[in-house]
Amino acid sequence: MAQTSTYPIHCPECKSQQDEVLYDSLDVGKEPELRKQLIENRLNRVKCNSCNFEFYVDKNLLYHDSREGWMIYLNPHRIDDAQKAIDEFDQVLEDMNNLLPSGQSLPPVDLVISRIELVERIFVREAGLDPKVIEYIKYLVYTQNLDKFMPENYAMLLNGQECNEENLCFVLQDVETKKLESLLHYKRETYDDLVDLLVQDADLSLIKQLFPGPYASARAYLIQDEI
Ligand SMILES: [Zn+2]
Repeated sequence: MAQTSTYPIHCPECKSQQDEVLYDSLDVGKEPELRKQLIENRLNRVKCNSCNFEFYVDKNLLYHDSREGWMIYLNPHRIDDAQKAIDEFDQVLEDMNNLLPSGQSLPPVDLVISRIELVERIFVREAGLDPKVIEYIKYLVYTQNLDKFMPENYAMLLNGQECNEENLCFVLQDVETKKLESLLHYKRETYDDLVDLLVQDADLSLIKQLFPGPYASARAYLIQDEI
């Protein structure tokens, strides 16, 4: 079941305060319509009672697909603050484990730090793709195109709706203007080869060495690398 709480929310336009019921967690296995709301950016949106301004409240959210058996935890942070999100995530996992009846274990839980990453990760998981291999492909594309697409300025996202049997489709988004700049196709065959190459031996796999923590992001990895 979904969990909600009431929060005091300040309107970013007129600064007035009102109480709003917002989602803390949702299970799209039980309430599939919440998936649509989230993807269309209608979930955790508020309309100000004073000035009618509508805005999205950027807050923590646990997304659970109980039919498919995976979870994604959104802990909103700036990309250069990703480490803070990772540190907090350890505590979240511990709390979630403590709530489970004994003998039960958590399904895989991915960590993301923005709403757009959450939506992307839902597509990646629903398509049965390996999120870390997808990030590795981004890593390759970024490092081969640094003259065109600096990771500081461009977010590369899987476009789930444009993927087909032949190709995976990515889109490059200008981080500042939010404009989608170009589409990029990547052969699914090459993805499959990468899965064989990178993921085989779960504990020693190359992919774990590249993205050891719970937050797998080629962009964050490359930005940190520069600092
Ligand atoms: Zn207002």
